[in-house]
Amino acid sequence: MSTRRIAIFGATGSIGVNTLDVIEQLGGRDTFELTALTGNANIEALARKAIDHGAAMAVTADETRYKALKDALSGSGVTPAAGTSGLCEAARMDNDMVMAAIVGTAGLKPTLEAASAGADIALANKECLVSAGPLFIKAIAEGGGTMIPVDSEHSAIFQVFEENQRRALERVIITASGGPFRTKSLEEMRHVDAATARAHPNWSMGLKISIDSASMFNKALEMIEAMHLFGLSPEQVEVIVHPQSIIHSMVGYADGSVLAQLGAPDMRTAIGYALAYPGRPVLSVERLDFAKLARLDFEAPDETRFPALRLARVAMDRGGLQGAVLNGAKEVALEAFIAGRCGFLEMAEITETVMDGLSHLRDATNIDDVFAADQEARRRATALVKG
Ligand code: NDP
Repeated sequence: MSTRRIAIFGATGSIGVNTLDVIEQLGGRDTFELTALTGNANIEALARKAIDHGAAMAVTADETRYKALKDALSGSGVTPAAGTSGLCEAARMDNDMVMAAIVGTAGLKPTLEAASAGADIALANKECLVSAGPLFIKAIAEGGGTMIPVDSEHSAIFQVFEENQRRALERVIITASGGPFRTKSLEEMRHVDAATARAHPNWSMGLKISIDSASMFNKALEMIEAMHLFGLSPEQVEVIVHPQSIIHSMVGYADGSVLAQLGAPDMRTAIGYALAYPGRPVLSVERLDFAKLARLDFEAPDETRFPALRLARVAMDRGGLQGAVLNGAKEVALEAFIAGRCGFLEMAEITETVMDGLSHLRDATNIDDVFAADQEARRRATALVKG
């Protein structure tokens, strides 16, 4: 069997490290040929992983760290590269697949480049679809690859989405754990700090995504992503709180059937599914024991305590660049919250004010429109935080 050429964007992060683990579980170099690994500040880890896993190239997004990377790779045979041009070079290495796991808007250009070049995209980065959904869907269609979601909710939907039954599709139901403040009152939520907000009950993730889960901004991003990825109308995207995080999401059809994907909360299942698609891999992850689980609970989401969900609907209804605006403003508010410069509930207030001020922005014609909307949203949110 021929090996699959794969590049891992964001190889030093949580998803990147799990991807390398899954690649080893699936046969390592006998199954995958690593064309490139990319990172940013964490040069030592990037170089070590590139050498250990036999990557052809290692790229740091930070040009000032090129020399450090070159030194760390000296004598290894791995080619060093840096900056956006280095990332885009990695995107064009005749890849069969690219794992898109760079965090933030920095992931947009190289992922778009890889999609246009025809690679299958295993998509973890949220900004690609939230900020630039139509551009990505077009690039994938034109490039001829497939976009396979890695976010556990979208992977779940993808796994039970019957494309040949699209006319009978009624809705997708995205599950949300409810985060650490599921049962807190609005008044209590007003006073929580970043240390409390980062304590996710089920998933082990980075600081920002954990706080986004607590505010449900993460769910808001997922709603927008799902709309673009599966070609849905805003009304077809629902959210249900499911505290155990065992059902990762569902799809409802016109005959009343609901198909769900279940599993232990472990990102390696979704990563493995994307890497082995259209097959299913053998993975050593925890198996569900239903007798031990005993029960699965559900609650309607509360848009008063979690206004991010309402803002997602506003962004989906308005369309255009509202996803980019929501995300840019939210990022600034999130950083302000982490630094103790704004309250937990203020994050949504800031985001909503910025969205209302930029509601006139139309569809992006190219990626520069997305960056311009993102920058303007960040500028306005920063002014609100300072004010
Ligand atoms: P991490 O913060 O753990 O890793 C981010 C990766 O991106 C690292 O390799 C980092 O390099 C690199 N990076 C950081 N800044 C830049 C930049 N400016 N330019 C290029 N690369 C950069 O994130 P995660 O792995 O947790 O998440 C990756 C993406 O996947 C995010 O968009 C996240 O929302 C999404 N996601 C994550 C999930 C999870 O369970 N973790 C679940 C679903 C989606 P370095 O280490 O050198 O700084």
